[in-house]
Formats: sequence, structure tokens, C-alpha cells
Amino acid sequence: MGLIVLVLLLSIISQPALGQSAQIALFWQDQPVESIGPQIKQGTIYIPIKVMEYAGAAVHIGQSDVRVDFRGQTFEFFPGETDSNGSFAEFEGEYYLSSAELKRLFNLDIQWNSSERKIVVKEPEIKRQIIGLDFDDSQGRAVLKILHQGKAEYQVTKLDPGRFKIDLFRTTLAKPLGMLLMDHPLVISVRAEQLSRDQVTFYIQGREGLAVESRLDQDNLLLEFFYTVESFEYRKMGGLPMLFYQSQTGLPEYREYLDSDLRVVREFMGVKLLGEAKRVDVNDDLIDYYEYFQDGPSVVAVMKIKPALQGFFSQSVQGKRLAQILKIRSEENDIGTEILFEVMGNPYARARKEGSRVIVEFSDTQANSVVRDLRYTSEYSGLTLTKLTDDSINVEILLKDAKGYALTQKDEYTYSVQLVKVGLQAKLVVIDPGHGGYDPGATGVFLEEKDLNLDVAFRLRDLLENLGYMTILTRETDLYVSLSERTNLSRNSGADLFVSVHTNGSTNSSAKGIETYYAPQSSEGKKLAESVQKALIVHTQAADRSAKDAGFWVLVNNIPRAILVEIGFVTNPSEEQKLNDENYRQKIAEGICSGIISFMMQK
Ligand SMILES: [Zn+2]
Repeated sequence: MGLIVLVLLLSIISQPALGQSAQIALFWQDQPVESIGPQIKQGTIYIPIKVMEYAGAAVHIGQSDVRVDFRGQTFEFFPGETDSNGSFAEFEGEYYLSSAELKRLFNLDIQWNSSERKIVVKEPEIKRQIIGLDFDDSQGRAVLKILHQGKAEYQVTKLDPGRFKIDLFRTTLAKPLGMLLMDHPLVISVRAEQLSRDQVTFYIQGREGLAVESRLDQDNLLLEFFYTVESFEYRKMGGLPMLFYQSQTGLPEYREYLDSDLRVVREFMGVKLLGEAKRVDVNDDLIDYYEYFQDGPSVVAVMKIKPALQGFFSQSVQGKRLAQILKIRSEENDIGTEILFEVMGNPYARARKEGSRVIVEFSDTQANSVVRDLRYTSEYSGLTLTKLTDDSINVEILLKDAKGYALTQKDEYTYSVQLVKVGLQAKLVVIDPGHGGYDPGATGVFLEEKDLNLDVAFRLRDLLENLGYMTILTRETDLYVSLSERTNLSRNSGADLFVSVHTNGSTNSSAKGIETYYAPQSSEGKKLAESVQKALIVHTQAADRSAKDAGFWVLVNNIPRAILVEIGFVTNPSEEQKLNDENYRQKIAEGICSGIISFMMQK
């Protein structure tokens, strides 16, 4: 917020119109303003500055000035100076502003009610409405932000295990949101309904056992969804100490390290402990004690090991409390230039563009002695590393001529920023293997969705690259990638197509077939989905569940040519058998590929 200093010149009003004020009452909204009333002088209505305290401002009467701090801005007035327009005045030790000036400076609504002889000062009515949604599921928990104009008023009600209802009062939906499908390990779907003229209700379907917290962030409503854990239990297995947990939601990624006090520490991010924190003395031949507790948005589980186990754990526990950037190198490739960060530990990386720079922020990270092996190219001309705090590092990449960028984690130890060159002749396809890491997606008897998606994505990549397409995968290993990271990739890289690969699941084990989704109202997405669906059925002979629209989050918040393919039901025993066959998975990839080619041939 900027500091606005207003210097107003004061005119000396010689004869305050005493007497009239007694007859005029002053109100802040519907609340009477006590002790002092308005003044009228030569037809101008003066309103005491103190009314601003009712509006939530701080009014300071100083020796030489009057200062009003209101919504992050400071307004200053100087008594005793000459004011040509007479907007600031002093009557008998009280300070006043003309009604016109008060309205102009503080953007207030001032009304004169002649039948009741009162002046009502209030905030102007603004249109209160829900203008959109944001979903961020990085770092364990998931955050749904309901973007609101005007302060949101709300109430959260738990319906069934995993189901919540959030009522927002005195508001409307700026545009229909419909049903949004997250296909996320905590949040399955979000639906918004305008129930009456001034009330909107959100229904959240989540996993059983999830915990919800709500708060306002400025005018917006933040709903935070957490994994939950009931307890941890110690067991000896194969001569090693282990901690097992009880959890309905399952637990997300964790950071593990051995501290200098021989404590093996595991931090589970985005988790709430449902039971009590506990410390249990064990004193066997492996550990002294174990304990677990809530620490901010994380649950921490600790085992204090015996010195004899130090060697084992310093080998097996890779992470340190903070990750380290060890090396940064760049390589030219067909897409442009790739800048690779070799790290140790588990950083959290996030990228944004500011002017001609791409800024990658690594949190929970240190960079003490980084080996640099960089060759500047036509895409970038500089790279600087700055320490933001003790545990976060900013990397600024100075762009020269780049169409876009894509931040991905290549494997456990490597992060990549791919700079896309200007004038890339080939089409760029972002391939998104759904789920990964602690999120298996749908599961069959012996197969998990995340593995099938990745396998088909690799096959699709090879087929497309053989035909001269360029590809970027949202993940190349068994790692969890948040939904926002997936969609940011296609949006920031300047990609032509986004293809998400998923495998279906159903409680009905006879459900079968292939279907392809596009975002509602996306005509390009629809054409692409229809082309891919048609080719898939030709290549696989699977049951045709058709191309259809649905509010999948990865489609709704993406480039126009975005589709999500459900390659079959892992929950159907005969489809699971087929999906287990690599020849069949190759046919699926060929189907998707030829559908893409047919679509692109029309363009
Ligand atoms: Zn899925």
C-alpha cells in the first residue's frame, strides 16, 4: 500500500454554526455517532473526522497534524493553514471534513435523510460475488480458494464422513461453476449451487477421514483439506525399528532425516493428528523412545535410536532437514535449452515469470557451494542465485528469446526448467500421466492406475517423437505432482496440446471401456477428444464410452486443446488382464497418437 499524504489548506471559519448541529443526528450505517454532530456553514455540511473511527480507521490528533490511517493508507491534515476550498475545518477543538471531501477521500456513501433530520455515512454497496476458484495441492494438504468480491460470510457444515457443505451468504455466483472433478487423493469433487437469490452452497466430496479448516484470506474464503492420522505404533522388524501408522486417508509425502541427537525424524506435511501427541519410552536394544506430535501443518514422528544403529540410518535416511542444490547445468535440446538442477533431499520448487525473467523458488533448500556448468544460448543470457531466507533460494533465469518455460521434476534428484525456443517448428505436446507417488489413483487386484498411466505416457511420447512432435511429461517417475503444477506446465510452456492419461475405477466391477473427456464449452477440446476417442476404439476394440465433457480441474484450468483419456477400468477383472499386457498398452498409445495426428491434420 502506498502512503498518500494529503496536504490540505485550511480556511478559518470564523463563525461556527452552533445550534444547528443539535438538531442533526449523525449515523455510521445504522449506528448513531455519539457526542459530536455535523456542522453546517454557508450551506456546506461538515462531518466530524471521528466518524472514521466507526469505519474502522485510526484517527490520531497530533500537535501539528491530524492523521487518519484507513485501509493501509495514511491521510494527513494540517490545522491552522489556509484552505482555499474550505474542506477541512476546526470548530471548538474538533476536526471536520466537508461531506464532499469525506466522500471523495474515503470512498464513502453519504446520505441526508430530511424526514428524520439525520446524516447517514456508510460504505457504498458493492456487488458481492464469487468470481472464481483456485486449487493448490502442493506440500501435502489441498487448498481450495473461493475468490470473493466483498468479504465472504460463510458457514461450514459436515454432512457425512468426507462430505462437507459450505454456505456463503449474501452473495451470488459471477458465472456458473458446475461440477468440478479433482480426481485427487483428498478432494474428489466440488460443486457450487446458487440456492436462492443471495446464497451459494458448495458441496465438497472428499476422502473419508479428511479434516477441513476454513479461514478468510482478505475477502476470499480458504478451505484447507488435511490428511489425518490417529496414531503411530512401534514394531521391531528384521532387527530394525519401524513406526506404523493408523490413518483413514493415508499419508502424503514426508521428509525424513537423522538429526545430530540420533533422532530419526519424519515430517508428514499437510497432516492433522486426530489423537493426542504421545511419547513412549521403549528402551529395547534398538531405540530409547518414540514420539509423535503436531507441528504447524505437519505431523512429526520421531524415533530416538541407539548409537549402534547410527551407521545404518545415516546410510538409509537420505534426506537432511534442508535440501541442497549441488549443481546447475544447461543443455541445448530440440525444444530449446534445458537448465537442470541436481539436488539432494526434498526441496519444494515453484516457478513464475516476471518480465524477462523466470524465477524458480526452492524452499526448504540451501545452496552453499553450487557447481555451475552453464552455457548461455539464444534462450537465456544469465542465471543468478540468491538466498531469500535461511531455507529458501531464488534462481533467476534471464531470458533472451524464449516462447515459454516448463518446470518439472525429472527424478528424485533432478529438477528441470525447459526453455522453449521461439520459432519451434514442431508441435509441443504436454503428456500428463495422472497420479503418482503416494497417490496410486484407481487400484485393481494387482495393478495401480499410476503405473499404467506412466507406461502409456512413455509409449505415447516415443510414438509422437518419432513423428517429429516435441513432448514434455508432467512426471517421468513415480512421484506425486500437484494438479496446479501439471496445468502450469502446459499454460507456461506455450504447448499446443495437453493429454492427460488416466485409468478408470468403479465400485461396479463390470464397468468397462474407454472414454475421453474435454472441458465444457471447449470446442477445440471437443474435436481433439472425439478424434482421439474414435482412433482409440479402432486400435483397441474396447467398449466405446464416447467423448464427453466434464469439469475435470486439469481440463478446465488449461489450454483450449486439453483432453483426459480414461484408458480402461482397472477394477474390471478382464480389462485389468488386458491392461497388464504391454501389447495392449502399445495399442492404446497408438490410438491416442493417431487421434492426435488426425486432429492436427485438420489444423
Ligand atoms: Zn485418475
